[in-house]
Amino acid sequence: MGGGCVRRSFRFLLRLTARQAAALAACLEDHRTLYNAALEHRRTAYARAGVSVRYGDQSAELKHIRADDPDGQGRWSFSSQQATLRRLDKAFRAFFDRVKAGRTPGFPRFKGCGWFDTVEWPKDGDGCRWDSQPEHSTATYVRLQGVGHVRVHRHRTVQGRVKTIAVKREGNRWFVVLSCDDVPAGPLPATGAAAGVDMGVASLVTTSDGQPLTNPRHLAASADRLAAAQRALARKKRGSKRRRKAVTRVATLHAKVRRQRLDGAHKAALALVRTYDVIVHEDLRITNMTRSASGTIQTPGRNVAAKSGLNRSILDAGWGVFLTILAHKAESAGRKLIAVNPAGTSRTCSRCGHCAKENRVTQAEFACTACGHAAHADVNAAVNIMRAGLALRQAAQAA
Ligand SMILES: [Zn+2]
Repeated sequence: MGGGCVRRSFRFLLRLTARQAAALAACLEDHRTLYNAALEHRRTAYARAGVSVRYGDQSAELKHIRADDPDGQGRWSFSSQQATLRRLDKAFRAFFDRVKAGRTPGFPRFKGCGWFDTVEWPKDGDGCRWDSQPEHSTATYVRLQGVGHVRVHRHRTVQGRVKTIAVKREGNRWFVVLSCDDVPAGPLPATGAAAGVDMGVASLVTTSDGQPLTNPRHLAASADRLAAAQRALARKKRGSKRRRKAVTRVATLHAKVRRQRLDGAHKAALALVRTYDVIVHEDLRITNMTRSASGTIQTPGRNVAAKSGLNRSILDAGWGVFLTILAHKAESAGRKLIAVNPAGTSRTCSRCGHCAKENRVTQAEFACTACGHAAHADVNAAVNIMRAGLALRQAAQAA
């Protein structure tokens, strides 16, 4: 625990001048055009001769493309353009892997205007420079080839060594994303506290202390809308204009759910690592199996619990995201994470240990038929999860 180094990314808002915003938009657009042209090249070669064009071929051609278009493609970083070609290469590799696996994947697609939002510079100092300070000594700038020195709203310190720099457009805002190596894993001070967490749908996680770290209401609302949009899409005729519209709506809502889910997961994980030295959670692989088999998920209860299967699966998908984020944060904070088998945790009384299906009155309520202990069902489960984890740890330490 503690010590060691990790890789971490830092994301900051860019404060662009009007001229820089125009240049960056042109930069993104040219990278998109390059991506689509390279895709067209590969498609044609594949369709006409069954030949697959390699990354090396396309990268070699880049020199000519730049030379022929000095005021267009020639303005931008060679390396960022190579990164774009590599991105296409990755899409093709994934495509051929799926073909090899005997599936029938869709061919890599052309990127429409709103579907290409990132330019990456694979190496700091090559067509880009982090923390480049032209005249200002207090502000932070990033220099981007063809765009200039762009001011960065650096709301926190960057640690480690900047490895790659990316610029991402989100709506009408632009962000710089730094991927840093050798970030010291800074352990947080010990709190002496441990917690079990129960993962649910109404609340993303509930702790054994009784803290619900709730799925934001707006996430549930977006999941509803996404489920409805997906049902609507299924009813549209293939190739119709209405279908294209419905596809766009589903994609937009997907992106929104993903953003809200990430945001909620980050907040919940941060709250946990700040408060607890030891965090015990359910082993997700086992959880998914047992829950779908036992059908407890279908038990009607509070708000979200009664929703359709599609909506549920949208919300459930947040658990994996949450655990990944929690694992990262726990590692860099020097916290201990323990995964336990969740079997029986929702039916067992956390006071007397009596295990019975009847203990679970509703989705939300737990009342022990042996000792009368009554609690919120998620809190009762979280306490059991914590006990199981601490027992595991004790056994490991004794061994
Ligand atoms: Zn009991």
